[in-house]
Amino acid sequence: MVLGELGGTISRALQQMSNATIIDEKVLNECLNEISRALLQSDVQFKLVRDMQTNIKKIVNLDDLAAGHNKRKIIQQAIFNELCKMLDPGKPSFTPKKGKSCVVMFVGLQGSGKTTTCTKYAYYHQKKGWKPALVCADTFRAGAFDQLKQNATKAKIPFYGSYMESDPVKIAVEGVERFKKENCDLIIVDTSGRHKQEAALFEEMRQVSEATKPDLVIFVMDSSIGQAAFDQAQAFKQSVAVGAVIVTKMDGHAKGGGALSAVAATKSPVIFIGTGEHMDEFEVFDVKPFVSRLLG
Ligand code: GDP
Repeated sequence: MVLGELGGTISRALQQMSNATIIDEKVLNECLNEISRALLQSDVQFKLVRDMQTNIKKIVNLDDLAAGHNKRKIIQQAIFNELCKMLDPGKPSFTPKKGKSCVVMFVGLQGSGKTTTCTKYAYYHQKKGWKPALVCADTFRAGAFDQLKQNATKAKIPFYGSYMESDPVKIAVEGVERFKKENCDLIIVDTSGRHKQEAALFEEMRQVSEATKPDLVIFVMDSSIGQAAFDQAQAFKQSVAVGAVIVTKMDGHAKGGGALSAVAATKSPVIFIGTGEHMDEFEVFDVKPFVSRLLG
């Protein structure tokens, strides 16, 4: 597990520091530099790493360390708290209420895992007694509707889309209206994702959002996007009111650091992570266990 490697590096850096006879600024800096390198390698944005380093220096009092307190514990706790803080935008995301008709719109780049995640999200709630439905407002990618239809059928979730209609706004509105009439309480709208940040994609997304008035917009991000995470997330946030993030493909080689960037860029929490291609490979994101794993 790559996250474990990061934890290993951090543990080693702390161990080396604890072994030092005198903890002075130089030793602390060396330790923090080592940790920062590990975080950068794990795709945490440079600015975030620098902020963390500055904050820790402010928190960790060298006099306390010199007085024989458990140095390793003090610094480890400071790093833990800083990483938790970076993953916590300060307010929870909007949470849909069972039984109340709620529209959730998914946005993200093509290939990020958006369509797969829509079904996972629907399936997760269905198992908890919700009545979800899926709307395919991706008229750009050939095969998008078939993919959603296939996933939805497998999970026995009602779906709406069209092979003929090319206007995503029209489909989205029709789908949402239909499922509201059918008393579905979680209406999930899958929008199209393009290869890059095209102006047309953002305009289309904005129109779908304006027409369907989603209660929540979820930004889906591939964990392997690396250092591009911040700019991508920010570009989406500037076009639509992103309120939550889902990070996919955490089962792969990605190191998870992009999650910190996505939170910083969207000021929204990560709510779930995707851990595989299957419908049930989907976990609720929890800040503390995630950071514990990061620290090893
Ligand atoms: P979209 O273009 O954003 O709608 O992306 P898709 O939902 O079509 O997903 C792109 C590819 O990523 C597909 O092959 C999915 O099976 C795969 N995928 C999605 N989520 C995950 C995940 O959490 N883990 C892994 N390993 N693969 C995933």
